[in-house]
Amino acid sequence: PSSMREVKFELPYVCWEDVGGQTKVKKQLIEAVQWPQINPELFECLGISPPRGLLMIGPPGCSKTLMARAVASEAKLNFLAVKGPELFSKWVGDSEKAVRSLFAKARANAPAIIFFDEIDGLAVTRGRENDSISVADRVVSQLLVEMDGLDRRVGITVIAATNRPDKIDHALLRPGRFDLLLNVHPPDEVDREEIFGIHMRSMPRAVDVDIKELANLAEGYTGADIKLVCREAGIAALEESLDISEASMRHFKIALSRVQPSNVQFYE
Ligand code: ATP
Repeated sequence: PSSMREVKFELPYVCWEDVGGQTKVKKQLIEAVQWPQINPELFECLGISPPRGLLMIGPPGCSKTLMARAVASEAKLNFLAVKGPELFSKWVGDSEKAVRSLFAKARANAPAIIFFDEIDGLAVTRGRENDSISVADRVVSQLLVEMDGLDRRVGITVIAATNRPDKIDHALLRPGRFDLLLNVHPPDEVDREEIFGIHMRSMPRAVDVDIKELANLAEGYTGADIKLVCREAGIAALEESLDISEASMRHFKIALSRVQPSNVQFYE
C-alpha cells in the first residue's frame, strides 16, 4: 500500500565506539544479534535459537535508539525504524495492514532489524472502552501474529524500546516474543567521561579542557544532555569571539549552566 512508502530502510553508520558506557547491553546485543548473523550454523549445531525479539528498557536520552542502530550497522543489517504511536496516526484505519506490510517489507529486505521505538504507545489504550482500543488491540495482536510466525532463518530481529515498562502489554513478553530484556541505565561518572570523549572527538578544544572533571560536574546528565552540552560549549566559544577556533573549559562550564540535566531515574 502507498502509505508504507513512508517507511524507509537505512543502513546506519554507527559503530560500538560511538556508544559510551552500556558495556552489558552492548555485549547482550552482540551475542543475541551479531553472533547469530555471523555464525548461524554454530547456533544450529548447539540446538539453540537466538531471540526473535529484544526489549530495551530505560529512560529517554540514554542510547536505546543509538545502540539499536549500532548493532544493525555492526552486523550489516538493514534497519527499519517505526515509532509505536505512528502505527496509529499515520495509517489510521489501516493499522493492522500497516503491521503486516511492515513485516513483509522487512522480509523482502532481510537480514534486517525492525526497531519499534515507544512500543508502550501501542499498548496504552488497550483494554479501555473506546474506539481506539480495538485498533490498539488489533495492532498488538497482529504484531504478535507476525512475531510468532517469524522464521529464524529469514533473518529478522525485532527490537523494541520503551521508557514506560509499566505500560507494556504482557502478551508481548511471552516466550518467543520479546523475551530478552535489556536494561539501559543512565550513565555513571565513568560512562559520562566516555560520552564526553565521543562528542568532543571532532571538536577542537583548549588544553585546559578536563574531561574527568566535566564528567564529575555532569551528574544527572544523560548521553543526550551531554551531546547538547558539547554543542552549547561550541556556541559559547563563538559568542565570546568569532576568532576563537577552540572550546575551553570555561565554555564547557557555561554550557553546563545552560543545559539542565534530565536527572532521569534508574529503573529496576
Ligand atoms: P528516547 O527514549 O528519547 O528515544 P534513547 O534512549 O533512544 O531516547 P537516543 O536517541 O539513543 O536515546 O539518544 C539521543 C542522542 O544522545 C544519541 O543520538 C547520541 O548522540 C546521544 N547519546 C545518548 N547516549 C549516549 C551514549 N551512551 N554515548 C554516546 N552518545 C549518546
